[in-house]
Amino acid sequence: MLRAKAVLITTGADYRRLEAEGREQFEGAGVYYAATALEGQLCRNETVVVAGSGNSAGQAAMFLSEGAAKVLLLVRGNSMKMSDYLSRRVQAHDNIEILYQTEIRKMSGGKKLEQIELENTETGERRTVRTPAVFSMIGAKPCTDWLLPEIERDAKGFINTGMSVAGAPAWQASKRQPTPLETSLPGIFAAGDVRSGSVKRCAAAVGEGGMAVAGIQMRLAGSS
Ligand SMILES: Cc1cc2nc3c(=O)[nH]c(=O)nc-3n(C[C@H](O)[C@H](O)[C@H](O)COP(=O)(O)OP(=O)(O)OC[C@H]3O[C@@H](n4cnc5c(N)ncnc54)[C@H](O)[C@@H]3O)c2cc1C
Repeated sequence: MLRAKAVLITTGADYRRLEAEGREQFEGAGVYYAATALEGQLCRNETVVVAGSGNSAGQAAMFLSEGAAKVLLLVRGNSMKMSDYLSRRVQAHDNIEILYQTEIRKMSGGKKLEQIELENTETGERRTVRTPAVFSMIGAKPCTDWLLPEIERDAKGFINTGMSVAGAPAWQASKRQPTPLETSLPGIFAAGDVRSGSVKRCAAAVGEGGMAVAGIQMRLAGSS
């Protein structure tokens, strides 16, 4: 056993991958796992594809629709699993087309993704779509199975931090408040993809790591 005055958890998350032929070849060159301004710039005025039916997929579709010519939202089943409010907004949007019971079978192109083959799993019908970008929003599993139950997590297993854990028993008994990246156990911090609400980007994870170290230094100095 090791004794420590502070611990920083950065075990990340396992992303589910699309099972489409050729997908590996286009990781980072047409297959993306986050839809930020950077990716938005890469596919302005193009047809882009978002795979998934949850809130992340809905938010990505809404965001990308601002700059893309068209967004195809691929839903594996016959209904969406996002919040009603978001679902209504997505369905009402002019340049978002929702394709139910549809999966990507194949991705192809040169150095970058150029086109994909879709299959309607109900009818077996296939069609080709030209697109430079597929956004994979089909879920990520946080690497948190190994943690103590006292470290609070959200419904998907990502670690809660900051004021959202202020009501935890250990903090109720403490004279101070949790710092932004501190978990429900004082002195235990979380940063990066493993943290609930994190942006799931490299730069964000690095930034959070730096912030967590600052929080740890404050704690070790006894000034927090
Ligand atoms: C295919 C793919 C492409 C991506 N492309 C981009 C991109 O282009 N740009 C971008 O900004 N972001 C991208 N991302 C997201 C980016 O990779 C993550 O946001 C970032 O790596 C998060 O950093 P992290 O340190 O929190 O977690 P990770 O980088 O996932 O690191 C977690 C580490 O902890 C280890 N670990 C897990 N469990 C344990 C354990 N119990 N004990 C010890 N070690 C453990 C893991 O093996 C891993 O090494 C991509 C993600 C994927 C999956």
